[in-house]
Amino acid sequence: MNSRTAQVAGRLVDRVETAEKVVALTFDDGPTAADTDAILWLLAQRGVPATFYVNGGVAAANPGQLERLVAAGHELGNHTQDHKRLIFVTPDGVAAQVEPTDAAIRAAGYDGPITFRPPNAKKLVVAPVWLAQHDRTTVMWDVEAEDFGGGPPQPASDIAERVLAQVRPGSIVLLHPWNGRAATQEATGEVIDELRRRGYRFVTVSELIG
Ligand SMILES: [Zn+2]
Repeated sequence: MNSRTAQVAGRLVDRVETAEKVVALTFDDGPTAADTDAILWLLAQRGVPATFYVNGGVAAANPGQLERLVAAGHELGNHTQDHKRLIFVTPDGVAAQVEPTDAAIRAAGYDGPITFRPPNAKKLVVAPVWLAQHDRTTVMWDVEAEDFGGGPPQPASDIAERVLAQVRPGSIVLLHPWNGRAATQEATGEVIDELRRRGYRFVTVSELIG
């Protein structure tokens, strides 16, 4: 079973039921310093807020980048310390992956809600119980477009088209713009511009889920 929507305990969201044309852009992994300028610029140019699911370990290796995301007014979420799959881990193992990243996010000056997104969205067993006990909301997505199959490089236009074909009111879009993924960065700009033309407005995850 590989389920993005079923979870044994705790609140899990992959989209919000609404007729309103609102969408949340979510960016997983990072923050890798070499990409921050490009990502922040494409969002700032368009006045769009996003939600960043960051890895505490990457943030530690790239000092100052979380602070930049916070200063730009974006929402931060927890994507674990080491991008570890939370399968067959003890409650302490879950805590060891979640708590240091929370601490790094707070240390960067962020005081908003911190939702959680598990790496490699496979079945979770212990993690949902821990997350429920700690009153954490797990946020998945209903739109994904990037090809990680190892084939030829995916052009930005392909990523953008796939996103645009799936987005509907209340969607949560998953993208990976870090680690030098220029095609995703470019596609993100295209997606924003086209969704705006279609009448969409951009919100953070916590704004979307209320
Ligand atoms: Zn990830």
